[in-house]
Amino acid sequence: MSSHRPSPIAPTVDFERDGVQHGFLRLPYSRDDSAWGSVMIPICVIRNGKGPAALLTGGNHGDEYEGPLALYELARTLDPSQVSGTVIIVPAMNYPAFRAGTRTSPIDKGNMNRSFPGRPDGTVTQKIADYFQRELLPRADLVFDFHSGGRTLDFVPFCAAHTLPDKAQEQKAFAAVEAFSAPFSMRMTEIDAIGMYDTAAEEMGKVFVTTELGGGGTSRAETVRIARRGILNVLRHTGIVAGAVETRKTQWLDMPSGDCFCFAEDDGMIETMIDLGEPVEEGAVLARIHSTGRTGVAPREILAKMSGMLAARHFPGLVKAGDCAAVVAMKVD
Ligand code: CA
Repeated sequence: MSSHRPSPIAPTVDFERDGVQHGFLRLPYSRDDSAWGSVMIPICVIRNGKGPAALLTGGNHGDEYEGPLALYELARTLDPSQVSGTVIIVPAMNYPAFRAGTRTSPIDKGNMNRSFPGRPDGTVTQKIADYFQRELLPRADLVFDFHSGGRTLDFVPFCAAHTLPDKAQEQKAFAAVEAFSAPFSMRMTEIDAIGMYDTAAEEMGKVFVTTELGGGGTSRAETVRIARRGILNVLRHTGIVAGAVETRKTQWLDMPSGDCFCFAEDDGMIETMIDLGEPVEEGAVLARIHSTGRTGVAPREILAKMSGMLAARHFPGLVKAGDCAAVVAMKVD
């Protein structure tokens, strides 16, 4: 098993030291422009004595910005005297992807969230995943991983956790989601959970919380405010940061089955027929895909397989067969 091999990543921070440390996870990466070079992944450790540890990440996908915007700021501003325990912040987890502004790494095309448990002797992306799997996740009690839609999806802003076999673990995760106080809170279903950071953390028994806060390869003023307020709320909720949770009204949503996902079966130009957050009736036309190759062709319709609310949509104007065109979620009280 390759996993007995030590990780090649060397942290420049000491996880047991009190105070604020801004450093790097240094990953050797020999290449044309730097023979003995490294990938320098920024990391911040804020520790104040014994206590629970939170592991906070953004940039798991490199074209999603609410997480990095919230976490670089948190690293710069969180006062260790307000902390009981440890906050580990990696604002751009797939740092090569983040630098390139792309979902996957330009070095190896690695999708961080499909690379777990990783390999210490694998690609750059697999080596980062392995370091999280074996070095960072075991240190954490709470694991919070920010996501947004990236260049190709757009979401209503929500914080989310998964339904889990361990109901005590699930209840702790949903309580943290509630504390985040996004406009929406989701019981999330994955298209395919294999290789995800989420799954790695949950299988280790950690309280795992994530978000989808917007998308389109950018961020909005409101979604960044939600991210910054939300992460402080979760840290306060767990007692790692002092202060009261700033509760806001949240609407719970559920993704009860695979019927929530609608995939395009044609290439073309997509026309959204229902906007994000609007109600959806089963059978309603969510979007139309127009043929671009010739005139006189009727558009293909994408129909809702369940009633609810439009929670996500394909973002760019052009779509390909197989793209996720829309996600419908059910409102729950
Ligand atoms: Ca994502």
